[in-house]
Amino acid sequence: MENTKTFLLNIFAYAFTGSYIAMDLESLKSLLLFAGAIILLILQIRLYFLKIKNEKKGKNKNLIMSKLKYLIIHCTATPEGREVTKEDIEQWHLVERGWSRVGYRDIIHLNGGLENLIDYNQDDTIDPWEISNGAHGFNGNSAHVVYVGGTEKNDIKKSKDTRTFEQHRSLQLYVLFMILRHPNIKVIGHNEVSKKDCPGFNVGEWLRSICVDEINIGLKK
Ligand SMILES: [Zn+2]
Repeated sequence: MENTKTFLLNIFAYAFTGSYIAMDLESLKSLLLFAGAIILLILQIRLYFLKIKNEKKGKNKNLIMSKLKYLIIHCTATPEGREVTKEDIEQWHLVERGWSRVGYRDIIHLNGGLENLIDYNQDDTIDPWEISNGAHGFNGNSAHVVYVGGTEKNDIKKSKDTRTFEQHRSLQLYVLFMILRHPNIKVIGHNEVSKKDCPGFNVGEWLRSICVDEINIGLKK
């Protein structure tokens, strides 16, 4: 019996160390613990790099749900007066850029109509299935809404606040409703967390003009 045990221990030791050495149960335990710790460490490092890679690709499957903190306002960066459909957004984001999900949960059309792009509920957390990929590094805790437009009619390089009267009205209702549902939410423009001009207007100034409370404005903690 004792011999069998020693034999098995030696087999284990050989498997781990590559050399046939005599080993007792205690050393085997430590060896297994050590090997386990190394494997865990390697898995963690792998997961970390996978997460970075997926973030870059716009895939968020490794993000766990977190609290909804920001409502980020975008424009489609398309010429003034030209309509953009849900299918256009899907074509640009899912097909051309290869993202796993589009960049916005809702779109506000030229006539002020609101169209849903990504399912979500009204609670205070962003679940993995509610994520939209609107702003790198902010997708795990933000909701993204976009209005159609955002550039000059004849020059898409020139950013412009092209919101129609109806879009103004819808975006205002949208923002106020989000604040009503989520009293601590911060409303910001995409340009406050990136170098882009999106959404083509100063969101803070606009929010003040429609009497939004200071606690709901800007990127503060
Ligand atoms: Zn944007």
